[in-house]
Amino acid sequence: MEIPATIAARMQPCLQGLEPYDPGFSACDINVSANENNLPVPPTVRSALDAALASTPLNRYPDPLSNELRAKIAARHGVAPENVLVTNGGDEALFLLFLAFGGPGRTLVDIQPTFSVYALYASMVGTSVETVLRDPSDFSIDWDALAAIDADLTIVTTPNNPTANLADKDALLGYVATTDALVLSDEAYMEFADEDLSVIPEIECHPNLIVLRTLSKAFGLAGARIGYLLADAGIVSALSAVRQPYSVNVLSQAAASVVLDLRGEYGAGIELIKKERARMAAALAATGCIEVFPSSSNFLLVRMREGSKVRARLRDEFSILVRDVSAMPELENCLRITVGTPEENDRIIQAVSTLSKEYAS
Ligand SMILES: *Cc1c(COP(=O)(O)O)cnc(C)c1O
Repeated sequence: MEIPATIAARMQPCLQGLEPYDPGFSACDINVSANENNLPVPPTVRSALDAALASTPLNRYPDPLSNELRAKIAARHGVAPENVLVTNGGDEALFLLFLAFGGPGRTLVDIQPTFSVYALYASMVGTSVETVLRDPSDFSIDWDALAAIDADLTIVTTPNNPTANLADKDALLGYVATTDALVLSDEAYMEFADEDLSVIPEIECHPNLIVLRTLSKAFGLAGARIGYLLADAGIVSALSAVRQPYSVNVLSQAAASVVLDLRGEYGAGIELIKKERARMAAALAATGCIEVFPSSSNFLLVRMREGSKVRARLRDEFSILVRDVSAMPELENCLRITVGTPEENDRIIQAVSTLSKEYAS
């Protein structure tokens, strides 16, 4: 329900006006609205997961710092365990950043259009938000405009959600080197781009650089809620001090541990998603009435006439759920479509092509 005015009046001033989060979910045959991994879990991973979960005791509190996982994540990325903070999804990591380093008198630079959660969490703890708009033609970032802002926190999402493009790595590192702000590189989708474009190796020489990763996207664990930050050990300590100690439960820690051990099993699926991404992009562009933006991620940003109507009809007539991002700045008539399984993608191509042609001309 909506929050009654009498209740809202009791809320903290910076929280008044918020409404419960609605992901716009409705049950459909094909859900390509949340950038999850729709491929089946590799069978070897599934059986190892089931065994690990079955043997995990539930009567004990979790290890607050997820040290076993932390060591595996550190090994994966070539950093020390002290540089790793494991969280209840990347979302918790984002909230902790604002709780620790935001608040009244502090400023977030929000490079829009981007993941709406940043500005939401910033405002929840009273952080000011300064918006910088991307170049509307290719969604690139105006680094000079960023450098001119006296920011406390800057978030650069690479690949960006929902525009699917990468940030220029050298420009990002140049900005990090010259700003006083803490800079978060949100790499939630980096597995679908190129690991060489990650700035993780740079955290060692840039104590103001923080990198976010998640197991929700490429590794298909969205339901288990495991994300992590890589950063200077001092920053990890500050964030550890403000978190709820048991936010990452034992089942999720056990599941994540198995997935990290067997992450090689996901390689073929990630390659398939990248291949399907190219196939979908070409097929949708071939309609002549859909603009498909280049993607380095597991989703496509597309623009067509009457985008919101197309989204509603995909849901109601084809049981396909995509994300309507048309209300975001610069994204008029745009939809975000996650790459699904090959069979799902066939149906998506067919349905989106049919509807977009109906509204063309
Ligand atoms: C999905 C996503 C995250 C984190 O998701 P979690 O499920 O909370 O780990 C972070 N940033 C971006 C840009 C995302 O799209």
